[in-house]
Amino acid sequence: MNCLVWFKRDLRVTDHTPLAAAAARGSVLPLYVFEPKYWELPDVSKRQFDFVNESVSDLAENLRDLGIPLVLRVGNVVDVLSDIKSNAPFDQIVSHEETGNSWTFNRDNEVAMWCRANAVRWEEFSQSGVVRRLNGRDGWAAQRKNFMLKEVVQIPSILKGPNLKSDPQPNIKINDSCPQRQIGGRKIGLSILGSFLKSRGQTYRKDMSSPDTGEAVCSRISPYLTYGCLSPREVVQVTSIRQREVRGTRDGWVGSLKSFQARLAWRDHFIQKLEDQPTLEHCCLHSAYEGLRPIEPNSTTLAAWQSGETGIPFVDACMRFLNSTGWLNFRMRSMLMAVASYHLWLDWRVTGLHLAQKFTDFEPGIHWPQVQMQSGTTGMNTVRIYNPIKQGLDQDPTGIFTRRWVPELTAVPNLYLQEPWRWTGANQVLGHSYPMPIVDVALSARAAREKVWALRRGNEFNFEASKIIKKHASRKDSQRYFVRDKNIKSGKKSAKLSQNVRQLGFDF
Ligand SMILES: Cc1cc2nc3c(=O)[nH]c(=O)nc-3n(C[C@H](O)[C@H](O)[C@H](O)COP(=O)(O)OP(=O)(O)OC[C@H]3O[C@@H](n4cnc5c(N)ncnc54)[C@H](O)[C@@H]3O)c2cc1C
Repeated sequence: MNCLVWFKRDLRVTDHTPLAAAAARGSVLPLYVFEPKYWELPDVSKRQFDFVNESVSDLAENLRDLGIPLVLRVGNVVDVLSDIKSNAPFDQIVSHEETGNSWTFNRDNEVAMWCRANAVRWEEFSQSGVVRRLNGRDGWAAQRKNFMLKEVVQIPSILKGPNLKSDPQPNIKINDSCPQRQIGGRKIGLSILGSFLKSRGQTYRKDMSSPDTGEAVCSRISPYLTYGCLSPREVVQVTSIRQREVRGTRDGWVGSLKSFQARLAWRDHFIQKLEDQPTLEHCCLHSAYEGLRPIEPNSTTLAAWQSGETGIPFVDACMRFLNSTGWLNFRMRSMLMAVASYHLWLDWRVTGLHLAQKFTDFEPGIHWPQVQMQSGTTGMNTVRIYNPIKQGLDQDPTGIFTRRWVPELTAVPNLYLQEPWRWTGANQVLGHSYPMPIVDVALSARAAREKVWALRRGNEFNFEASKIIKKHASRKDSQRYFVRDKNIKSGKKSAKLSQNVRQLGFDF
């Protein structure tokens, strides 16, 4: 009997436990389904669709090399499964676990019901440090470390299975211009990771926070992780090997790779939050913040923020950069979110949707917890109100980035670039080619701070906050569990790991 491998956000053949399991069992039926209803959701976009399409083509090529065609279908997954079952019977589905949005969660429930009704066994495997049905955060970091230290799963040498017809690769009509979008597919993902670990990442720790330098020194692997072109475990392991190679050097690599490993751990840490509490896509983590900001946004303010027309130069530069590239570094994502939530007093659900669409790497499990954290609605993080003028001065001291994305301000002298309203020549530009700021940056931040802190006083707030901390906060000792070079220092295990990972196609 056939075993159906359902590819979702795991578009690779390497380190793919379900594919290897199916290959060991016999006849393999690899399936990818483009779900039209998913691509109508408010958190998705054409840039993501195009990236997925390219990654699926790459996956199809890899499967062809292994001897079987990818079956590509367009439709509702349950309908597709029923149709395939009537042409090529299968009694098992294997896939990776997915921590997605509420739509994919409900879709998976429907698939599970269909499996029960049709005597099909559906087996799901983990592909990251995220743990299903986790019983509390104590010990989580150690579990993650154990997962990351396991050998990456090798590509099955040859596959056999039925030859089923595919639908043509679809397209969607959504207006979304992203001229500098990253291109999908494992081949490109590997080369981007390789260039980061070999050369681009040397000053990562020092230069990651500026959107200008960050563009080149950040790894840029996020969309490849989101859609599974790269597996988190192979990235962790190949980085560990590189860490061993640079040990003892003093040229920036040691600190940069340590920071990179920490961020890979953050990835799982954040996704685990959504896995443990799916409601945080729609509800404030701390209930005291419900209703703090109007659910119906001020549409003019929202539109100005979305299009990079707030009149606050560094905010507009970052938003325009994001709209055009589909990517932004962490510090600037935080700033955009904080300005929307504090200075502009917009509800995170609305602004979070805009950012979700604009990020090619949209990963619900990182996105929604981060959106809430930067909006101060978690009850467990300190209130961090970024000052966009100071950020502009710190992260773009020469103004090169701001001028590139807000060319209307080319003539403004450096001293006033982040606050052009203070410049004597302002009336030539502001209100003509570039808007006046839509809020007073200092006053709006102060007003927001007061409103947010007013809610945080009192025992009731603290009682709920302590429960949230217990459930979601990282444990102090978790640093010990980052997978570091010392974990694969020497001996047989290390040699095996190195050999294993090098087979993935990395060559330092
Ligand atoms: C409001 C907001 C929304 C975000 N939404 C997303 C999202 O939808 N998808 C997404 O991948 N990242 C998201 N991030 C996290 C982070 O900004 C991006 O992962 C990072 O900028 C991607 O670029 P990179 O791959 O070059 O990252 P690098 O700095 O090179 O880091 C390597 C990897 O570590 C992980 N990572 C890095 N920073 C974080 C972080 N702060 N939290 C969790 N994981 C992290 C990512 O997988 C990233 O690819 C968000 C951050 C904020 C503040």
